[in-house]
Amino acid sequence: MADQTEEKAEICPKCGSPLVEATTKTGKKLKRCSTNVWDPATRTSSGCDYVEWPKASVEELDEDCPECGAKLVLMHTATGKQLKKCSTSKWNRATKTAEGCTYVQWM
Ligand SMILES: [Zn+2]
Ligand SMILES: [Zn+2]
Repeated sequence: MADQTEEKAEICPKCGSPLVEATTKTGKKLKRCSTNVWDPATRTSSGCDYVEWPKASVEELDEDCPECGAKLVLMHTATGKQLKKCSTSKWNRATKTAEGCTYVQWM
């Protein structure tokens, strides 16, 4: 598009093409590579398969976790939901397991 500003254009780390914003059927927003094309006839996608999901934002709260007494944080998920969770809970990417306190309260 002609009116896209330079600083808005994000580049795919895999192939260097511009990223485009897309919304899934469930309303989730994501960015994907502009070279990725879905072919409904063959039900396959071609091109670069890079997809970037938006990161959830986290706000620190002045509330204590009822389970361990640590501070709670308010999380806004990519789908627009809010939840409170314990600030000690962390996702370990290496082992793919949750670590720390498991307290979660959906809003
Ligand atoms: Zn790409
Ligand atoms: Zn806790």
